[in-house]
Amino acid sequence: MRHVFGFVPALGALLLFVGCQASTLAVSQATLGTPRRSADLLAVIDLPGPVTVETVASAQWQVDLSGLLDLSDPRAQAAGLANRDEPIEVYFHAIRHPKFGLFLIDTGVETAERDHPDAARVQGLVRTFMHGDTLKASTPLGAWLAKQPEKVAGVLLTHMHIDHIWGVPDLPPTPLYVGPNESSQRSFEHLFVQGVTDALLRGQKEVLEWRFQEDADERFAGVIDVFGDGSVWALWTPGHTAGSVSYVARTPDGPVLFTGDTCHTAFGWQTGVPPGSFTADRALNQKSLDALRQIANEHPHMQVRLGHQRLQR
Ligand SMILES: [Zn+2]
Repeated sequence: MRHVFGFVPALGALLLFVGCQASTLAVSQATLGTPRRSADLLAVIDLPGPVTVETVASAQWQVDLSGLLDLSDPRAQAAGLANRDEPIEVYFHAIRHPKFGLFLIDTGVETAERDHPDAARVQGLVRTFMHGDTLKASTPLGAWLAKQPEKVAGVLLTHMHIDHIWGVPDLPPTPLYVGPNESSQRSFEHLFVQGVTDALLRGQKEVLEWRFQEDADERFAGVIDVFGDGSVWALWTPGHTAGSVSYVARTPDGPVLFTGDTCHTAFGWQTGVPPGSFTADRALNQKSLDALRQIANEHPHMQVRLGHQRLQR
């Protein structure tokens, strides 16, 4: 038996070292989207665009402020912030393009969270750890979709954390777009959540990675013109996760920026303080957040939709 007891700790140490992927679902390269540079986005950003945007607060929830904000940041300390339960919302955003149809940015929560919580796919230790008992699902994705005339043509995910793919069980197999290495990046945390991530994605065929190229203007890690007509843009903003993506949609009323969890909170956006323990790489997240705040400062009429709170402006 000695070899068994020798082997098991070694295997455990190896698992801790290499971690595992976010999901075991197949990954393919997206055929949608044309790589550009940020100057191409800036050339059209202030022109009225053809896309309409509807933001839906799918659920209300409470999580640790220390996850949402780096409380060790001097700007957070100067504001006297300490850890507490912070009220947040879980969103999905409907983007309607006159030619390409209905797309979603992120997915809110599944209908089972409201109607059959015992059958919801986020269960067990992960649910407990996520303070799932404080979640109130007000407008689940499926309940909203049942009232829409059109089907979802694709989902533009900001990243693959559970609270951004929580509504996927309400979707038939649908193209799911993610940033580079978002699914394949190995981490210790994934050992804990991969089962739930896979459960939420069950029934889907694959995730499709955006084919970013380096942004020649060095504002972002990469820039993609999603439909090739300059109406919707994907910006690679790594840090919160390896493949975190922000989006810009050009509407008749001007541009709308969707930050994903590169910025969770109104305080984070107003002060530039990056997320806390929910973020994988705080320094890189800070760089991406700074780039988003810069583009918003340069285009002050741009509307900003944050990861988990509304911005009063
Ligand atoms: Zn989130």
